[in-house]
Amino acid sequence: MNRNAGEQEFHQAVKEVLESLGRVIAKRPYYADNALIERLCEPERQIIFRVPWIDDSGQVQINRGFRVQFNSALGPYKGGIRFHPSVNVGIIKFLGFEQTFKNALTGMPIGGGKGGSDFNPRGRSDREVMRFCQSFMTELHRHLGEYTDVPAGDIGVGGREIGYMFGQYKRLTNKYEAGVLTGKALFHGGSRARREATGYGATYFVERMLATRGETFEGKRTVVSGSGNVAIYTMEKVLEFGGVIAACSDSNGYVIDDNGIDLDLVKEIKEVRRGRLSEYVKLRGAGAHYIVDGSIWDIPCAVAMPSATQNELTGRDAKRLIANGVMAVGEGANMPSTPDAVKLFQDARVLFAPGKAANAGGVATSALEMQQNASRDSWTFEKTETRLAEIMRDIHDRCAETADEYGAPGDYVLGANIAGFVRVAEAMDALGVI
Ligand code: NDP
Repeated sequence: MNRNAGEQEFHQAVKEVLESLGRVIAKRPYYADNALIERLCEPERQIIFRVPWIDDSGQVQINRGFRVQFNSALGPYKGGIRFHPSVNVGIIKFLGFEQTFKNALTGMPIGGGKGGSDFNPRGRSDREVMRFCQSFMTELHRHLGEYTDVPAGDIGVGGREIGYMFGQYKRLTNKYEAGVLTGKALFHGGSRARREATGYGATYFVERMLATRGETFEGKRTVVSGSGNVAIYTMEKVLEFGGVIAACSDSNGYVIDDNGIDLDLVKEIKEVRRGRLSEYVKLRGAGAHYIVDGSIWDIPCAVAMPSATQNELTGRDAKRLIANGVMAVGEGANMPSTPDAVKLFQDARVLFAPGKAANAGGVATSALEMQQNASRDSWTFEKTETRLAEIMRDIHDRCAETADEYGAPGDYVLGANIAGFVRVAEAMDALGVI
């Protein structure tokens, strides 16, 4: 603990994984040899750097940049970049740690990493965002490469920011190295369906989980928190599966719509205008309400898909959801449910899909983007989505089968942690003590 003092989210993520490993170590004690578990909890490399940039009024601004290269036993470090004022080393480490297991679960040749900055893009002009991205990449570029470390987007980092970072990388290295970043625009070698992949993938996972109880999304009220990349494409797939979206949110409040959320309007506000969700009510008219005080999880629903940020769904929220009859919870975000919330869901036999399994569709499709870049190819949307659906089905089944094998049927948390751990542990062990 002293070694990582103050890194609360990192402690939380490590504790959750280590609590699952007792059963696997009891069965295969050699996994604990050579301090393998201690090595797994220690990032291979952490880079912290200054990001100076000039705002539109000519003032010099300073932010802090991070890249935690957590584990490369299975392939180059792979994981997103987050721009949000809350970013600190503990948050990036928790995300990098989770990413290592998530990437292992996809079955693809990718290690785990994560990065970001405490830069707040909200309210910044397009040029300010560009200058920030260029300065951020000016330091980061020396640590990246298609065989070394391949970042992608996350909170506050979408196609625009990836474009600016790719531009700066290209300028500094004099290489058109498409495979160095994922989430690129199509004309830079981006993959079709990457934008949709995390939300679609989480919905595919929940659909398969519901099927274990003979259920589907058809007619089910679903609440999705957030209104960013993951939330929007979760809503899109839930609607395609016949569900009804009751509400979505941003960091200021939530919208509830008696007629079901109008996704085209949310996309118009968030993706086209880069506006705030509070504008929804004015544009939509009767039946829509924007609530500033309160929790989105008070709204009765059959399926809950937390898709905003870590620790957004507390024990109190879980109690409300359970009392209101929630049947399934699928984490689109990383670690959105607090540990007491997870326990309450599991004790109440609510189907619960942890983020490291349910939201793995984004990184899996990033790995498909890397495949397309390596072979100078560009797949159709249908081909990419078909692969995504297969990958999500495989992740679901691997988690469920592992939970069965270790005597905890239906425990997707245990299944995901053990299945991810076994793959990373075997790869690390085969490399010797490094
Ligand atoms: P976006 O930036 O596109 O959207 C984030 C959304 O969450 C926004 O609606 C934002 O509201 C809200 N939000 C962010 N921070 C907070 C906060 N502290 N409290 C309340 N709401 C908040 O990010 P993504 O959709 O890409 O990411 C969402 C989650 O999914 C994150 O946990 C991310 O790590 C995870 N994830 C993302 C993947 C991807 O492919 N993008 C892949 C796997 C996981 P506001 O606009 O008000 O800030």
